Amino acid sequence: MLLTRSEIDRRVNDLAGQISRDYAGCDLLLIGVLKGAFIFMADLARALSIPCQTDFIRAASYGAGSESSGTIVITKDVDAEVRGRDVLIIEDIIDTGLTLRHIVDTLMLRQPKSIKVCAFLDKRRRRKIPFEADYVGFSMEDGFVVGYGLDFNEQDRHWPDVYVIPNPV
Ligand code: 5GP
Repeated sequence: MLLTRSEIDRRVNDLAGQISRDYAGCDLLLIGVLKGAFIFMADLARALSIPCQTDFIRAASYGAGSESSGTIVITKDVDAEVRGRDVLIIEDIIDTGLTLRHIVDTLMLRQPKSIKVCAFLDKRRRRKIPFEADYVGFSMEDGFVVGYGLDFNEQDRHWPDVYVIPNPV
């Protein structure tokens, strides 16, 4: 096991406190990246003490196995108006950085007032391009993780804790 439910709860509450302070008085739009961020976003949003709107986006990465190829396509766009809003993208995990780079660049074209990223997990050492999240739940080394929204072949997303899977195929 990498992270227990209680460790996750504490960290999500810390992040929500920080985000609530940083975005006080703002027109906050949370955009969750499907599917992996759905549980993190649900917990984070409920722990905020400020108003916000919620929406979702989905991106597919075309490539082999569990690795991003670099060809990212938006397969479900946000419904909400982005222009002039304070956008906070909620992601499950940053690996190569390619998915978030594409999502941020796509949403930037719609002229938000601000755009930042909050990632539950960050595998900093695996970047293929430079990418920094503004808020990070936990940093981790290499390894494939499941649970708390993260899947292995669409299984295990519902597990309340986070586990490392050795050698996923
Ligand atoms: P990136 O474009 O940063 O390489 O990939 C990000 C996406 O890859 C994440 O949103 C997630 O779907 C997937 N991913 C990367 N690492 C892991 C991992 O350890 N476990 C799972 N379940 N998905 C991962």
